Amino acid sequence: MSSYSERARAILPGGVNSPVRAWNGVGGEPVPIAEAHGSRIVDADGREMIDLVASWGPAILGHAKPEVVAAVQAAAAKGLSFGATTEAEVELAEIIRDRYAPAERVRLVSTGTEATMTAIRLARAATGRTRIVKFAGCYHGHSDALLVAAGSGLATAGVPDSAGVTPGAAQDTLVLPYGDEAALTDAFAEHGAEIAGVIVEAAPANMGVIQPPAGFNRLISTLCRNEGAVMILDEVLTGFRAGPAGCWGIERDHDLAAGLDPWTPDLVTFGKVIGGGLPVAALGGRRDLMEQLAPLGPVYQAGTLSGNPVAVAAGLATMRLLDDDVHAHVARIASSLADGVSGALTERGITHAVGRAGTLFSVFLGLDEAPVTFDEVSRQDTAAFARLFHALRREGVALPPSAYEAWFVSAAHSVNDVRHIVSTVAHWADAEVA
Ligand code: PLP
Repeated sequence: MSSYSERARAILPGGVNSPVRAWNGVGGEPVPIAEAHGSRIVDADGREMIDLVASWGPAILGHAKPEVVAAVQAAAAKGLSFGATTEAEVELAEIIRDRYAPAERVRLVSTGTEATMTAIRLARAATGRTRIVKFAGCYHGHSDALLVAAGSGLATAGVPDSAGVTPGAAQDTLVLPYGDEAALTDAFAEHGAEIAGVIVEAAPANMGVIQPPAGFNRLISTLCRNEGAVMILDEVLTGFRAGPAGCWGIERDHDLAAGLDPWTPDLVTFGKVIGGGLPVAALGGRRDLMEQLAPLGPVYQAGTLSGNPVAVAAGLATMRLLDDDVHAHVARIASSLADGVSGALTERGITHAVGRAGTLFSVFLGLDEAPVTFDEVSRQDTAAFARLFHALRREGVALPPSAYEAWFVSAAHSVNDVRHIVSTVAHWADAEVA
């Protein structure tokens, strides 16, 4: 164990400030990180690795992109926080709206957790109803009402729900299996008059990456509209990463190509990419709903550091650079990596499935079909994943330390990075079957 790890464990519970950073799911002890540039991350012992964590999503341009760093430095030099609106906040919100039409109005916050928490408050206020439907394995941050059957760190740790969430806080959360149209229709038939909203990850990516079954998001939208509930599409992870307008944009394009009217979420949450690595997240949505937020309406939401100028500078610089060419590169790298890894595993007879949603993917070892529900995901071979994780780490590749997370690529990853990762996976697979 490095001395840095010992110091971390001596002061931070578990040595971390967020549980997904611990290695409980794979065993061993993480070495703290010192710096990161482009596709590489360097630990405090000086080991450089190809990074597939990307800060859990934000680093879509690669780490420490010079233009983003320069924008942050320039903003910081003008003042770290004003507690008043800035032009840059307005511009970032406009960019979000211009690229993501359902976000007619935007409120910037600091974390995805705040965005989803506010979304359910707004849904409840607008409908006068209490119940929220969520899906098992979907993670929407750590507010009490949404910390039920959540994926991400809870899935890795094998705990269904967090301790400390009172029955009162969780009793109005109705948990359904993801992708189960009949369960959703039945829930509305039974509880329709009480359902304030349905919250769903645009594509689940906190239990590994799940491709939404065709028509599932549309069904949620239709049921919500017909039953007077609010559809909350959580694009904190997928937004501006899975595709230029997140997963909604991908589905909209499919709808249009199929001659269908695109469905529209009522509220959308963003985070990660829109902050470019600093704490920016957002709630967007229908104007009439969003205008129920204080100070226009009766739904209270606030934040001392919301729309912080330094954080917004990082987000704005990132969003300005994030054009179609960047997305096309990320898409090429993601599919060549996913296909390369899958091909290497198939050639060696290692049972696996790849879950994909736009440019997001993850590899499920031990499953022969891409899973849809959390129960199906739970049948994956997490011990094999832990072996793969450590084999890659030894060869300079940093995978997320959990079988329940996406493998994140960025615009800075190169074809050579892909080659190295694929050949390392191939060597691991050779050793597994030997
Ligand atoms: N929603 C989704 C889909 C997420 O993936 C996350 C974080 O991983 C959140 C919400 C919570 O965001 P934050 O960690 O910024 O609070």
